[in-house]
Amino acid sequence: MADRRIIILGCGGFVGSHLTERLLADGRFEIHGFDTSDTKCSHLLGDKNFHFTKSYVDASNTEKMLGGILGDAEAIYSLAAVCNPAQYVANPVFTIKSNFIHAYSLVDLCTQHGAWLIHTSTCEVYGRTVASYLPDNDYSNPDLFEQREDETPLVMGPTVNQRWTYAAAKALFERYIYANHTENGLPFTIIRPYNWFGPRMDFIPGRDGEGVPRVMACFMKALLDDQPLQLVDGGKAWRTITYIGDAVDALSKMLDVPKKAKNTFFNIGNRANEVTIEELAHLMRDVYAEITGDDAYKSHPIEYVSGEKFYGPGYEDCDRRVCDVSRAERLLDWKAEVPLRDTLRNTMAHFHDLYGQK
Ligand code: UDP
Repeated sequence: MADRRIIILGCGGFVGSHLTERLLADGRFEIHGFDTSDTKCSHLLGDKNFHFTKSYVDASNTEKMLGGILGDAEAIYSLAAVCNPAQYVANPVFTIKSNFIHAYSLVDLCTQHGAWLIHTSTCEVYGRTVASYLPDNDYSNPDLFEQREDETPLVMGPTVNQRWTYAAAKALFERYIYANHTENGLPFTIIRPYNWFGPRMDFIPGRDGEGVPRVMACFMKALLDDQPLQLVDGGKAWRTITYIGDAVDALSKMLDVPKKAKNTFFNIGNRANEVTIEELAHLMRDVYAEITGDDAYKSHPIEYVSGEKFYGPGYEDCDRRVCDVSRAERLLDWKAEVPLRDTLRNTMAHFHDLYGQK
């Protein structure tokens, strides 16, 4: 019987749609989902345990939208966010408003109701690594770059580099949650995702959206449209790619071990899947050759572009993100399982099925 009420803000987004799908399949949960769009969760709308409201929940209507149902909810997941580096630089005001100003009243309301707020933050709050400022740093020692939830400092570039608008807004939001926990007893969990990839991620420009999406969708568009893959600043940055199925495992497991999951922070990533963006480009070409059966994709052109040209002035990159996930493994009995190649194959096959020409 579905008698455990869960609220999901952002159920129509990439992460939200996968989490909603997972919790509905479990059968024990009644989901109240909110989003401005139902495109990514339209296949779930017929489920009798899914109650969808098409709305943006912001500071002006938090109480009206959630006040009546929050008291009986076991947990509220907040997943709605602008999380696309091109927007941090091109629309910095919108980035700060949507990630902090429109959202902070949710923390107040959860505090008022004593409701468990499970908030998806970002690994980007760690910013750049301290080691990146060392003169002879050559990135050869991963231990120098490991990020631990309660120990690693959050290092952001100067205010004029607007890349950090997102990280700064998210970091302040985390601090607002934590302050309400310590002062007013708010039960919370903060999740820091490490490059979660999977079907329904982002948008493909010219197909189902406009603008510059994150790297997977940029490379996918280039492969679909026979354009070169563009490597920003040489593709030297590192990322830890995590399959969305592994990520929603961690998110959903929290509900069954609330005592362990509450009042702490979790890095959720797959350390075994660490690559440079240059390596990612090569791998995506190979995987696309496999998907299409066309070996020509293995040598698909790659071109080099500066961060300033690609994103505009004020772009600065996170250099490396090595996640320590021992807390999630220990407390949630969770482990990321899906290797990088399978993650890319599942993700790219989804977009190829939707938009592939050949
Ligand atoms: N990037 C790239 N080519 C693209 C898009 C992004 O080389 O077409 C790089 C970007 O500069 C960064 C990395 O890929 O180093 C990951 O960027 P993404 O937009 O996925 O988001 P992030 O991980 O920085 O939040």
